[in-house]
Amino acid sequence: MSNRQIQLAARPVGRIKPTDWAHVTVPVAGPGPGEFAGRTRMISLDPAMRGWLDDRPSYLPPVGIGEVMRAGSVVEVTASNHPDYRPGDHVLGTFGVREYVVSDGSGVRKVDPSAAPLSTYLGALGMPGMTAYFGLLDVGALKAGETVVVSGAAGAVGTMVGQIAKVRGARVIGIAGGAEKCALLTKELGFDAAIDYRSDDVRKALRSEAPDGIDVYFDNVGGDILDAALANLAMHARVVICGAISQYNETEARGPANYLALLVRRARMEGFLVFDYVARYAEAMREVAGWIGEGRIKVREHVVTGTVDDFPATLDMLFRGDNIGKLVLKLT
Ligand code: NAP
Repeated sequence: MSNRQIQLAARPVGRIKPTDWAHVTVPVAGPGPGEFAGRTRMISLDPAMRGWLDDRPSYLPPVGIGEVMRAGSVVEVTASNHPDYRPGDHVLGTFGVREYVVSDGSGVRKVDPSAAPLSTYLGALGMPGMTAYFGLLDVGALKAGETVVVSGAAGAVGTMVGQIAKVRGARVIGIAGGAEKCALLTKELGFDAAIDYRSDDVRKALRSEAPDGIDVYFDNVGGDILDAALANLAMHARVVICGAISQYNETEARGPANYLALLVRRARMEGFLVFDYVARYAEAMREVAGWIGEGRIKVREHVVTGTVDDFPATLDMLFRGDNIGKLVLKLT
């Protein structure tokens, strides 16, 4: 049997090109002593993947040229010499973009397909859901009655930030690209208002939707939208730097020009990495699962069905804004 996988062929400059990837077929390895083997079922697509391709210091080493692309995925165990895993188990881990996986179990967690769809373990109950939960409640220190603004609002993290903020009694304004995404936010997900950054003047719209200022700004995009939010802060606001997708394809990331708003408003701006909260994931997952079960949070997923060869085109959807909710590639 053969194992199809996607490797990094060249370091992208700007937007990733199809030639930056190599589509490679290698023999399937069986599990050695203390290992299990499995078949990939779902692959997570994440904006952070763009950063992993750059050869510059970051929180993880860059993916090497010729290495299999790093990716979180859900795998079904097919054979096992590992005492903790049996054929039929489903496991979550950073297994990479490949059809078949061999693992010694390090960094692997079992998931229960009867409790939630496999895709949800990569989304609302996975890394993006945890990012929203800890970024908003811990870093953002949200209090009931406050005004929250979230950019990238119709994405994996953004849909969760807005809905968790509503559960916690906030007024919520989402910023997203296009009328369809904005309608989803207000009509289906319970946001109080939505701003379409492709057609609205974001700075003016924020002034009218948040006349008393923004208490928590959860930033997923950076660039001009971050500056527009900084221009509308309330006193003692918290600006949560979660990501900056508008800058990921730039050779030099552009910082905010409006940073003196932090001084004037006695505000703070803080970045965070969700992986620092791993020890508290179980607590957050229980709470988020409860909200989903009660119908207070709706799960939005964008599932593309295909093969590992569809990974490059699917990843590009994030940078075109073609996804609504958590983007996953389901392998046929
Ligand atoms: P996502 O929001 O599901 O998908 C990306 C979205 O970004 C697109 O759908 C698009 O929506 C928007 N976008 C793309 N290019 C843009 C641009 N130039 N300007 C403004 N918006 C743009 O992705 P996600 O997985 O939820 O991630 C959201 C952010 O969180 C990313 O910045 C990611 O790196 C960050 N993140 C951080 C952590 C952490 O630990 N700090 C963990 C997970 C994710 P529109 O159609 O609305 O433009």
